[in-house]
Amino acid sequence: MIEVKPYKDAQSSKREQVEQMFDSIAPKYDFLNRFLSMGIDQIWRKRAINSLKEVNPKQILDVATGTADLAIAALKLNPDHVTGIDISNQMLQVGRNKISHKALNGKITLQQADSANLPFEDNKFDAITVAFGVRNFEFLQQGINQMYRVTRDGGKLAVLEFSKPKSFPFKQLYNFYFKYILPGWGGLISKSKTAYTYLPESVEHFPEGENFAAYLKNAGYKKIEIKPLTFGICTLYTAIK
Ligand code: SAM
Repeated sequence: MIEVKPYKDAQSSKREQVEQMFDSIAPKYDFLNRFLSMGIDQIWRKRAINSLKEVNPKQILDVATGTADLAIAALKLNPDHVTGIDISNQMLQVGRNKISHKALNGKITLQQADSANLPFEDNKFDAITVAFGVRNFEFLQQGINQMYRVTRDGGKLAVLEFSKPKSFPFKQLYNFYFKYILPGWGGLISKSKTAYTYLPESVEHFPEGENFAAYLKNAGYKKIEIKPLTFGICTLYTAIK
């Protein structure tokens, strides 16, 4: 897999660069998500949460939680607790403010941690979620292995990630939007041109579909399902430990 980093001329690791990039766009992240996806991101999050109903999860881990949108959406499953982890302190801070504002402090805890080294005991969680996070991992297989380790037997994983539509005219429309519209608006509003050129580049090189499923299989996951959403702009992957 080709490693795509946000700041091409910098020597720092992908993890450091990704952390720096999300720290810098954190205050504008939620607005840009809604604006650039025209609200569709909320529908994708609901699909991911609904896919977990069958395991009736009481302990949920949201990896790469960012500003905690998926962690908050996961409360629909009526869990005892949701834990969110992320490497970017600024993204977590925006998430903490939202959680306090909604008086959800007793239900959701956010902590700074890296997917490559999850600070939890084996088999702790009934369900694990990751939305638009795996593409940013410096160590993809290690992150998935760690998620597998902290899931209980029979627990479920739900991963949302961007993918590339294959059919006309969605492929052409998507390419135009991702190459020209998104970097323009994203760069202007977030003041980070890097973040919104990194986004299409990282999607371009991410191992999607069966290629991503192979990483899940390697970790030990079973019953892997791949569901393209919205003409294949996004894919929901689910798997059972
Ligand atoms: N899940 C959130 C959502 O759906 O809005 C945030 C997605 S945002 C595109 C990607 C997040 O992944 C960022 O907050 C980034 O800091 C986090 N991230 C990237 N690499 C990570 C890693 N190795 N471990 C934990 N978080 C990571």
